[in-house]
Amino acid sequence: MKLSFINALIGLLYPSVCAACGSSLFKWEKLVCTRCRNLLPKTGYEMNEDNPLARMFYGKVRLKAVTACFFFSKEGKVQHLIHELKYKGNGDAGIFLGQELGKSLKEAPLFQGLDYLIPVPLHPKRERQRGYNQSQMIAQGISEVTGIPVGDKFLFRSVNTATQTHKTKEERWQNVKDIFAVKHPERLEGKYVLLVDDVLTTGATLEACALTLSAVPGINISCATAACAG
Ligand SMILES: [Zn+2]
Repeated sequence: MKLSFINALIGLLYPSVCAACGSSLFKWEKLVCTRCRNLLPKTGYEMNEDNPLARMFYGKVRLKAVTACFFFSKEGKVQHLIHELKYKGNGDAGIFLGQELGKSLKEAPLFQGLDYLIPVPLHPKRERQRGYNQSQMIAQGISEVTGIPVGDKFLFRSVNTATQTHKTKEERWQNVKDIFAVKHPERLEGKYVLLVDDVLTTGATLEACALTLSAVPGINISCATAACAG
């Protein structure tokens, strides 16, 4: 049997539904229905340097800009998409969110001249369970729209990765919290990077990542997530 035939059969047995609202999709709709695409609540924060998300990091770590694509509200469509991405193995939901984020960043002056998109690394054990890192899927979506490369080898979780007795070159870059570390810091010197995560809540993870990256000479850092509290 041809794979396309099997796919068609699966389509008949399990009709595609919108990853945001759960209603059936038309043949020409992919992943998210047209209605949801038009209704998802955009923040517009990418155009506002002094937005509430940027203020969360004031006095903690120096960031060029902070934004989230959508407002995240309980039982809402954005929550549903994030849930699909994190708990239902729907990596395409991350690509979609990333593409939407990428579209908003593309025209935003604060986010011009980016050299790399750096996804917040997931704990390797969690990544194995999920099959992917959700932040990486979002970064991939942004990259598809903007052409900015994903630099997913620069930042990694240092906890449980190396024995502390043998300090490597990379480990010298560990921040005070010892959660994240930078690989190949020399390649990030003088670069402008965008930290990418799924949801911005307390900002603690992004802060730890940004603090670690900020040890690199001449680096400029901005943060973007798919969603934030609304
Ligand atoms: Zn929908």
